[in-house]
Amino acid sequence: MASIPPCTAVENCTIPTDIVLVSSDGARFGSHARNLAEFTGSFPDTLPEEGEEIPIKNMNAKALALFLSFIHHHRQPNLGMVEFSTLFQLAEAVEMYEVFSATEICRVQMAARVQHHAVNVFLYSIKHGYMDVADEAGQIVIAGHGMSRYILRVLNPRWLSTWDRYSEYYRSQFDVYYVEPPPFLHRGGVNFCSAWNKFRNCINSQAPRDTTVTADPAACVPENGGKRQESTLPVSGSFLPFFDYQ
Ligand SMILES: [Zn+2]
Ligand SMILES: [Zn+2]
Repeated sequence: MASIPPCTAVENCTIPTDIVLVSSDGARFGSHARNLAEFTGSFPDTLPEEGEEIPIKNMNAKALALFLSFIHHHRQPNLGMVEFSTLFQLAEAVEMYEVFSATEICRVQMAARVQHHAVNVFLYSIKHGYMDVADEAGQIVIAGHGMSRYILRVLNPRWLSTWDRYSEYYRSQFDVYYVEPPPFLHRGGVNFCSAWNKFRNCINSQAPRDTTVTADPAACVPENGGKRQESTLPVSGSFLPFFDYQ
C-alpha cells in the first residue's frame, strides 16, 4: 500500500494526514478526514477504508490543491491570478461539496472574469442562483455573435425556453429605441433614399449583438408609454423574472 503523503495544502501544516485524494490528472494529495468533515457539507461522498485512495474526478491537481487549502484554519489563497479553467473547477466543486468558506470568494472571482468567459460564468451563475452575475453574463452572451448560438448547445434543456424569452426580450428592444430620422436631402433636392430601408434592416438584424442598444432596457422603457404595450414580457433588465424555478 502506498504511503500517505504529507499535507501540502497550506504552509507548514502540522496535522497528520490520514486520507489520500487523487485528482483527475492523477496527483495524490494527503489530507485530513476530520477537516474535510468539518469544513465541507459532504466530501468525499463516501468515507474510505484506512489508507484507501479516493478519486476526485471533477478537479485537476491545481483545483484540488486550492480546494484543500479551504479546509484549513488558515489564510485563504489568492484566487486573482488563478487561470479560469482551474477557478471554474474550484467554483463548481465548492458549491457541490458545500465549502462555505470558499463559495463567496469564488462567486466574486467568477463574476470578475465575466468579460472573457461569459458563457461559462453564465452557466455557473444560473446553476447556483447568482442572478446578478447571470444578468451581466447573459447580456454579454446575447451580444456575442458566436456565443448566443453556442449557449443553445450547452444550456441545460430545462432553461432553454427561459433563455428564448430572455433573448427575445432583448431583441424586441430595438423597436422601442428606434426613431425614424427626418428625410435627408440628397443631391438634386431628392429626399427619398433608395438605400435606407436596406440599411435600416441591416442594423436591425445586428442590434441583438450590440449591447449599447440592448443593455438595461428597464431604464429606457417608460412604465406605460412603451411602444410594445402588447408585450407580455416583464419590463426589466433582470434575468430573474424570466425564471420560474419550476
Ligand atoms: Zn493540512
Ligand atoms: Zn441615401
